Amino acid sequence: MKAMVLSAPNELALGEVARPVIGEGQVLVRVTYSGICGTDYKIYSGAIPVRYPRIMGHEMIGEVVETSPGAAVRPGDRAIIDPELYCGACFHCRIGQTHLCPNGMLLGRDANGGFAEYVTAPASHVFPLPDSIDNQTAPLIQVLTTCLHAQRQINIFPGETVAVLGLGVTGQLHVQLAKARGATVIGITRSAEKRALALRLGADLAFPGGEEAIRKVRGATEGRGADAVIECTGMLPVLADGIHMARSGGRLLLFGIITAKQGELPFYDLYFKELALINARVAKSEDYPNSIALVQRGMVRLEPLVSHVMPLGELKAAIGMLGSDNGQRMKIILEHA
Ligand SMILES: [Zn+2]
Ligand SMILES: [Zn+2]
Repeated sequence: MKAMVLSAPNELALGEVARPVIGEGQVLVRVTYSGICGTDYKIYSGAIPVRYPRIMGHEMIGEVVETSPGAAVRPGDRAIIDPELYCGACFHCRIGQTHLCPNGMLLGRDANGGFAEYVTAPASHVFPLPDSIDNQTAPLIQVLTTCLHAQRQINIFPGETVAVLGLGVTGQLHVQLAKARGATVIGITRSAEKRALALRLGADLAFPGGEEAIRKVRGATEGRGADAVIECTGMLPVLADGIHMARSGGRLLLFGIITAKQGELPFYDLYFKELALINARVAKSEDYPNSIALVQRGMVRLEPLVSHVMPLGELKAAIGMLGSDNGQRMKIILEHA
């Protein structure tokens, strides 16, 4: 089969490799569309080390070709693959924390993924897609599952005010999920286009970042601050703003991945306001049916988040686009031949 093969950092080319063969309990899927994200960029550049050669790609949908006995999908079904594999036997798996499995693997990083004609996955990780969800947006459901998993940890109640900092793809998904929970949602970003998009997708208010945003969030909450703040940029100055705009007793979801090892934060406010800092990593199987249902019911809209659709063969150029700071770019989807 044809695949985009990464043979060393920054060495990515279309190659001919053996088609994967399904093992016990596995499903073979012909990949039709996939998405790329920052993780792919880090694998490509070598910042996340992998064993070479490696086929990347962890956001993928396709058509089921071959199944194992007991699989919930049948040949011909359209399906999305949960790329987060787990062992099922360790301490974390047995207490239901499969996403924290120390023996876990991500397809596209620790095993071959979806930037190819075919991919295999355990039957438990293949979820059928309803006809109403179109191919070009469906790979984004994997991203939505990570947002849903994260919001489970902060348990938003109807009537609460939620501030979302950073309105890229995940920020826009968080806006829609918080709205679906019945919250008043405030979107914050310096990009006027992304503020306008957040308002279209259900945000009640949208402000540019910094001091002004802190004032406006307090102004919108009788001076208290937001009940919950969702930080989606991974940048410490933005997190500092989030700490300032959370109410006393509020909670902060650190969704953006912070790689900084030091920096300035208003640490005293964490204590004085008794703020809860909550982290969330990847997603669990339980997040797939719920995310699919939210999209199917129109409660989360994905199509405004796709800015580019490119052929799989242009993966290298697409990944290069992730490395440049382009305020207009949202999700890049790859169309497989
Ligand atoms: Zn991703
Ligand atoms: Zn495990």
